[in-house]
Amino acid sequence: MYVHIVDKKKDGIVVRGAKMHQTGATNSHEILVMPTLALKGGEKDYAVCFALPLNAPGITLFFGRQVNDTRRLEGGKIDLGNYDYGIVGGECLITFEDVFVPEERVFMAGEVESSRDLVTRFATAHRQNYGGCRVGIADVMIGAIALLAEIQGIDKFSHVREKLVDLVYLAERLYACSLSCSAEGKPTPSGAYFADTMLANVTKLTASQVFYDLSRGLHEIAGGFVATTPSEQDFKNPEEAKLLNKYFECKAGVPAEYRIRLGRYIENITSSTPFLEFMHGAGSPQTQRAMLFREADFEAKKRLAKKVVGIP
Ligand SMILES: Cc1cc2nc3c(=O)[nH]c(=O)nc-3n(C[C@H](O)[C@H](O)[C@H](O)COP(=O)(O)OP(=O)(O)OC[C@H]3O[C@@H](n4cnc5c(N)ncnc54)[C@H](O)[C@@H]3O)c2cc1C
Repeated sequence: MYVHIVDKKKDGIVVRGAKMHQTGATNSHEILVMPTLALKGGEKDYAVCFALPLNAPGITLFFGRQVNDTRRLEGGKIDLGNYDYGIVGGECLITFEDVFVPEERVFMAGEVESSRDLVTRFATAHRQNYGGCRVGIADVMIGAIALLAEIQGIDKFSHVREKLVDLVYLAERLYACSLSCSAEGKPTPSGAYFADTMLANVTKLTASQVFYDLSRGLHEIAGGFVATTPSEQDFKNPEEAKLLNKYFECKAGVPAEYRIRLGRYIENITSSTPFLEFMHGAGSPQTQRAMLFREADFEAKKRLAKKVVGIP
């Protein structure tokens, strides 16, 4: 089912198979396809890398559904939580049914021995950027909950402050990973920099852990209204709005709408798609652990331990 070569012609190759979960594919003009595994002998046909326009004959895109996606069709903005920037990229399953790729667009065709390097380089760059990108999201999440705590009148309680500090710690921990894997990067022979593989994997593994803890903190501080607020449409009906605004308002002079906007943002950013994205994007956590095992140099660490405890 993985994309692979099914025919070789004198001016190109023919490929078949599917790529799952492609973020932003429908917004793109072209797709760059490459292996996602280190391949072995006998898997030559799967060692294929190429770029094609998305409207090339034989390519079909199936747009993925997300929780609450039909809210986009209701004509409102608030219930989407993050109308202007979106939450996660709009993933597609892309199928290739005997698609012709012209020679000049083929970057790899059968070089099994290069697949491990290609995957490691792609994965390292992707795992590195999880640090910067996800810390940006974390900053918005922390800002949203700090603001909400203020509106709900709980920001001065010591346990809320403590929880806010814990959230900052999580975000900054990820930021530290992100900086270190980049700062420890080295130039490749081409002159392009390559992040530190070990630290980039630590960055992504940290991102997948941190997001769950961040979300738990937001849920705990925000309260249950995040899950039970009526539709934006109800707030547009003047009679209902009178009652809803009265009962949703927390702080005199701060419109209930502000609280609801923040609640909707939290609801959306902590809905299932972002969780899955943090968990599996750039590879499942186990793939990062496998890299840590590979890069750890246990023998050197054993030598150090022997020296310290006096084992010859
Ligand atoms: C929102 C989102 C956006 C994404 N965007 C992109 C994108 O733009 N481009 C892209 O290429 N990919 C993208 N991905 C795909 C992502 O890289 C994969 O989801 C990830 O690599 C995990 O693969 P999988 O989903 O097939 O899960 P699986 O590989 O099926 O993993 C499920 C479980 O099985 C375990 N497992 C799998 N294989 C083995 C094995 N051989 N031995 C032991 N355990 C195993 C894993 O550790 C995991 O616990 C995206 C994913 C998500 C969720």
